[in-house]
Amino acid sequence: MQTQLQMVDYDGNFNPNLSEELEKWELVRKRKDYHIVSVVGCQSSGKSTLFNLLFQTNFPVMDSDQGRTQTTKGIWVDKSTNGEILVIDVEGTDSSERGEEHEQFARKSALFSFALSEVLIINMWMQDIGRYSAANKSLLKTVFEVHLELFCSETSKTFLLFIIRDHTLTPLNVLQEQIMKDVHEIWVQIAKPEEFSKSKIEDFFSIEITSLPHKIHEPEKFNEGIELLKPRFFNPQTDNYLFQKQFFKGIPIDGFSKFSESIWKVILENKNLDIPTQKQMLSLFRCTEISGEAFSKFKEQELIQIIEPLEKVNYLKDFGNRCEKLLLNSLEFFDESTKRYQKEVSEKTREELRVKIIEELFKQFSIQMVKIQEHICSEFNKEIEKVVPKDRPLKQFSRLMNDIKIKTTSEFESLGKSSVFQTSGWEIIQFSEKVINVIVSRINKEKERGVKLLLKKALDSLETEIKKDIPFLLDQAFENMWQKIREKIDQIRNLLNPKMEEYLQGFGLLQEEKKVFYKQFEDKLVSIISKMVSEASNFVLLKMKKRFDERFRYDEKGLPRVWRPEHPISEIFQRAKRQAHIVLDLFSYIRLTENPTPKPEDMIIQEKEQNNIRTNFEKDAERAFIEAQYMQNSNVTNFKIPPIFWIIFFALSYNKIISIMKNPL
Ligand code: GDP
Ligand code: MG
Repeated sequence: MQTQLQMVDYDGNFNPNLSEELEKWELVRKRKDYHIVSVVGCQSSGKSTLFNLLFQTNFPVMDSDQGRTQTTKGIWVDKSTNGEILVIDVEGTDSSERGEEHEQFARKSALFSFALSEVLIINMWMQDIGRYSAANKSLLKTVFEVHLELFCSETSKTFLLFIIRDHTLTPLNVLQEQIMKDVHEIWVQIAKPEEFSKSKIEDFFSIEITSLPHKIHEPEKFNEGIELLKPRFFNPQTDNYLFQKQFFKGIPIDGFSKFSESIWKVILENKNLDIPTQKQMLSLFRCTEISGEAFSKFKEQELIQIIEPLEKVNYLKDFGNRCEKLLLNSLEFFDESTKRYQKEVSEKTREELRVKIIEELFKQFSIQMVKIQEHICSEFNKEIEKVVPKDRPLKQFSRLMNDIKIKTTSEFESLGKSSVFQTSGWEIIQFSEKVINVIVSRINKEKERGVKLLLKKALDSLETEIKKDIPFLLDQAFENMWQKIREKIDQIRNLLNPKMEEYLQGFGLLQEEKKVFYKQFEDKLVSIISKMVSEASNFVLLKMKKRFDERFRYDEKGLPRVWRPEHPISEIFQRAKRQAHIVLDLFSYIRLTENPTPKPEDMIIQEKEQNNIRTNFEKDAERAFIEAQYMQNSNVTNFKIPPIFWIIFFALSYNKIISIMKNPL
């Protein structure tokens, strides 16, 4: 069964489906920790055989009978049986086959596997050790040079495990010394960058040299050797466990494909391999990818947990908590998936994700807040309906409204607060403004209505009070009528003003508003009085006549006068007339203040009309005067004066009488 995947073909093309195919491996799918090992060595030195035996991989092995099996050349990757170790095998050609091209590919593939591997196995035939072997030397040279190239940017060490194949008689320590000698020789020889000129090989590698017995001649011992090697790869509890932390290259498994692809690309282009930058790029790439994954998971699966219930209710009680939970879920997913990537990169991407999610949640938050606004405003309106009577003004209006306002806004605030969460950065102020506007405008409307009601009630009371006494005063029309009216009005004011004042205080009216209110009250007062006086003035002539009669025809005791000679008719006549004229004057204009100068709007009876009335009155008065005189004269003489005498008398005194009448004083 072939499980290995081709990473790079011999023409240098990176497998475009690698990432997708790797996802089928549990190790990759579950984002597990893993280790990685690769091997270099001469062609047909048993590299693939070793891997297959150690890790139960299925790399093609050259068949000793039929020559090389037809396998695609290139770089391959497989996983160990336990799925925790990635194994990279390079399937090359014999150097003789492709010459220069072989050199190139070997070097590139070595660089590639070094950049990825924690443990690098160097495979050697025993018989090649110590002898001058071009193949071995060039191999070590390549290994060191390539590593130095990587070390310019990468500082983690690599474990070099030399495995001597077909180890027979020569003691291992002799072989080890020989190899170390070669290693140091080559290390000295290779060109090193300035900063590494004095460095030792041990600064870059942990080196161990071991061996395996001859596979063909001592197959059992060979197998034992393989079994002894296994725990060093598989069991972290083993003393000489190979995959020590210090060798880990820091590439999370989910970024392996992407990272190896970009590394290969750089190698192909013969550019300097800058591993930290590559790692950073990988981190950025993966974190962005994971962030995208987290975000679409959030939008497609999580957000619905808020949208759906929110559609069904007035508002969500624990909105803030719910949002925070969703956010934390998504961030947790992100953190878990990116924990193996560079912190600086993942932190930045995490913040971007957080902001994006909060933005998305904010849309729902706005919906929630609008719902809360509606709910709160409707509750507020209900409360107003309950508290404010329709048909009368409300005492303590302002205080009660203030209570409701405070209750409403604090309820809004508490609902608002339960809709945000600590790190959301959401403000409820922009939403509370609208609520306050609704509250304020409704209260103002109610206040306006209440004040109108109050004015109406006050005016009704005013009218009732005025009607109690004032018509009587107008009817009497005594000289002190206006004074009495003013006193009466003052009484009414004294009665009504404190009540109004109490309400107005309750409504919390400003001084200016109060002025307007009282002005309306006073205007109405004036208009009621004007109307009454004006109605009464229609009868002013009668009133004048009545007053004149009272004073002229009747005496102080109210008895009809019997005119005697000693009575000063003319004087009484003049006085009575004056009284009658006073009545006319009383109704001619309104005087609600003391000693006013009459203004046109105060006039009840115009000047011309007054003259008409006076003329009318005079006629009656004259008649009364004449009658009175006649009566007096008849009382002077007991005898009957013949009528002819009266005719002569009148004829003689006519002028005199007229002049008296015209000028009574
Ligand atoms: P690779 O090209 O380095 O991967 O070598 P292979 O694993 O394909 O092996 C090449 C040949 O060497 C095969 O015929 C193997 O059976 C044989 N072989 C593998 N391991 C050993 C070994 O340890 N000793 C000997 N003598 N032959 C081996
Ligand atoms: Mg092979």
